[in-house]
Amino acid sequence: MGGDEIPGLLQLYVVLHLLLGAPLNTLVNKEHRVPLWYAPGNHTDARNALDFLIKEINLPVEVMSDYRSYSSQAEAFVRLMSDEGEERADEVIARPGHSEHQLGTVFDVAWAGLPIEYNDSRNRKLWSALEARAHEFGFVISFPLKAIREWPYNNRWSAVVTEYRWEPWHLRYVGLPLAKEIFDAGYLDPQSAVLPQDFYQPWPDF
Ligand SMILES: [Zn+2]
Repeated sequence: MGGDEIPGLLQLYVVLHLLLGAPLNTLVNKEHRVPLWYAPGNHTDARNALDFLIKEINLPVEVMSDYRSYSSQAEAFVRLMSDEGEERADEVIARPGHSEHQLGTVFDVAWAGLPIEYNDSRNRKLWSALEARAHEFGFVISFPLKAIREWPYNNRWSAVVTEYRWEPWHLRYVGLPLAKEIFDAGYLDPQSAVLPQDFYQPWPDF
């Protein structure tokens, strides 16, 4: 009899994260990643909240990208790196494990039928409607517009502040209380250094 081993704390932790999902405030950026094995699929509450948000703003919306596995992110990164070089790839796409899309709580959205494209006024209309209302449904814009004050750097986006380009299409579900807290902190003000990432916690490192 016996012989069954009590799972170690690490195994227990892995199982809990598989069952319950990572906390909604998990920090994922260039320095902090989620493990390869974390493959939750789309988060149900997040997906439902997105449907409510879309219904509320009443514009034609298409979800261009949602949950991405570690391996699909790796493929996308390698493809872009071989097409455009590593430096460019690092500018526009996260490395595997470093994409918020792996959390399953992130959606890239555009005006239905349009590609993700800043210059189309329909997309801009959609994205500003989302900016205004997202927090009411538990969402934040992960990479808001930030403008550096000094000329000539008052361009449309700042890699200095956000790591990535301004991405008004990239919505992350963090739940109602945190979304409101981040919104109230003024993160959408281009002159404010406040970012959603300031409110997150890294995945514990083992
Ligand atoms: Zn995205």
